[in-house]
Amino acid sequence: MPMYEFRCEKCGEKFERLLPYLEAKKTQECPRCEKLSGKRVVSAPSVSASQGSGGFGGGGCGPTGFG
Ligand SMILES: [Zn+2]
Repeated sequence: MPMYEFRCEKCGEKFERLLPYLEAKKTQECPRCEKLSGKRVVSAPSVSASQGSGGFGGGGCGPTGFG
């Protein structure tokens, strides 16, 4: 099971839970104020934004040999 990070919108408490994917989408109970205000924190894996990439309209991946 993956670990998800949550942050309480009431008190700002950050906590982690081991949850299945479907459960992680739901609001979690805060361990500090015990309110259902724990929203999932989505961490950004990329540091710098992508720029200057012109890779649209190509045929990189996909089934080849049409016909
Ligand atoms: Zn809280």
